Amino acid sequence: MKSKAIIVIGAGIGGIVAATHLARRGLNVTVLEKNSHAGGRCDRFRRDGHHFDAGPTLLVMPLLYEAEFAALGTSMHEMLNLQRVDPTYHLVFDDGSQLALTSDMKSMQEQLEALEPGSFHGLLRYMEEGRRHYHLGIEKLVNRDFRKTSEFFNLGNLPLAFQLKPFSNHYRNMSAYFDDPRLKSAFTFQDVYMGLSPFEAPATFSMMPYTELAHGVWYPRGGMYSIVEALVGLAERAGVRFEFNASVARIDVSGNRARGVILTDGRPLQADAVLANADLPYVYKDLLPCCPKGREEAKRLERKRFSCSVVSFFWGVDKAYANLPPHTLFLADDFRDNFKSIIRDLNLPANPSLYIHAPARLDASMAPEGQDTIIGIVPVGHMSENGEQDWAAIRDEARQHVFRRLRTIGIMDLEDHIKFEVNYTPLSWRKRYNLMKGSTHGLCHNLMQLGYFRPRNKHARYHNLYFVGASTHPGTGVPTAMVSGRLAAQRILDDLYTNDKVERVGNPPLNHLY
Ligand SMILES: Cc1cc2nc3c(=O)[nH]c(=O)nc-3n(C[C@H](O)[C@H](O)[C@H](O)COP(=O)(O)OP(=O)(O)OC[C@H]3O[C@@H](n4cnc5c(N)ncnc54)[C@H](O)[C@@H]3O)c2cc1C
Repeated sequence: MKSKAIIVIGAGIGGIVAATHLARRGLNVTVLEKNSHAGGRCDRFRRDGHHFDAGPTLLVMPLLYEAEFAALGTSMHEMLNLQRVDPTYHLVFDDGSQLALTSDMKSMQEQLEALEPGSFHGLLRYMEEGRRHYHLGIEKLVNRDFRKTSEFFNLGNLPLAFQLKPFSNHYRNMSAYFDDPRLKSAFTFQDVYMGLSPFEAPATFSMMPYTELAHGVWYPRGGMYSIVEALVGLAERAGVRFEFNASVARIDVSGNRARGVILTDGRPLQADAVLANADLPYVYKDLLPCCPKGREEAKRLERKRFSCSVVSFFWGVDKAYANLPPHTLFLADDFRDNFKSIIRDLNLPANPSLYIHAPARLDASMAPEGQDTIIGIVPVGHMSENGEQDWAAIRDEARQHVFRRLRTIGIMDLEDHIKFEVNYTPLSWRKRYNLMKGSTHGLCHNLMQLGYFRPRNKHARYHNLYFVGASTHPGTGVPTAMVSGRLAAQRILDDLYTNDKVERVGNPPLNHLY
């Protein structure tokens, strides 16, 4: 049989993984990427000997990586040189108290009991709930694709409505385990990774603090971009062809099929199937025809809830801050108001929680000797529809908050030692990766946008147009984008070869790994 041609729009994690699975099954796959290199949001840049991971900085859910590398016919440990980061985060509260989250249970006991007597027992119970949510969530929600209503709404899934606590509010659920607001925030702030406030997130997300403590937070030598390098190597070995600086202007459709794509330089490219890895709401709005029905679909997606965004600062510093831990999180007392300003008001909170990453603590090669590489990330609202946010002013205010917070832990002179700064605002996220509203995590993961309710990985009308990546199933994150890539590839293969006996991508034996 003549090999089928597949075009993938975008070389993000999901696109590369899907392309590799398809090429490994004999398809002729071309990935078109508007930027000069692969990775999408999992990006990096270098300047004057300083190395910056521009997007992800945390390798979490290592068992998902392990399973997905196995599905690609290799081993995570062969592809990545990993070191465990423990303590994972150093949390700093407004009152000056600190908590180093660690898998060392003795240390956790001492630290927790000092913050709230009796709370260590609460942690153990919370971790047990997180363990249950993690295993069930991965098996029943993440690692599968809901193609039909009956696959989601069936008697077998009914117990999940109780087991996963989808209808309980995560923060409120914390009262069953802790009284101290510092501890409630310490084990719910991870919801922001899903673009959610813990005050609205389902309690299901206790799976995140669980996996961070139980399975660890890791650091791949060379930074998170080494994951992209490993995946691109696998893709090229499988025969995937990458074209960089190749921006798709639109998807060429006819009747109920996609015929291929038209590039911004006017070049048409034909394909048997098109897989869009670019942000799904952007694809509907900008790459599909704007007939009334298409416009309606695009509008419907645009009205969905989007995750927050961030202002990121990348600093090359001429001094080494040896006492600054690799991952420091400043958690504000007014935790609830923080989320309100970010999510409801699309703004910068008055006293924002924020995150500092110092990669040279983990890998000395990330900064020149005697110097430092520092990344500051401040969550902010995504871009509003009326465009009234003044991003330059918000960025400047966010920068001052970073300096102010660092002074509280004894770093008084960062400003004096900055050699250069690069910063990204939501405008940059939109421009660089075509992320709608500059939302760093795409469509958010509230109950009505999860599982069956999340946009499908196949277009309803164009039968050979598929989607992969953060705004489709299962959602945001590097390992989840890998899962998304496998599920999308499987769907394409199922459609293309329904009647042929071709080796399938197949689910790897995932369960025992989790
Ligand atoms: C600041 C930040 C911090 C994060 N932290 C973490 C973390 O610590 N851990 C973690 O696991 N995850 C983290 N994430 C999330 C993770 O990076 C993403 O969920 C994941 O990388 C998304 O992959 P994707 O497959 O959706 O592809 P994307 O990254 O969205 O890539 C899509 C690609 O499509 C390209 N494209 C768009 N339009 C076109 C076009 N018209 N033509 C051609 N190409 C096009 C884009 O340039 C891009 O390369 C973070 C994200 C951000 C932004």
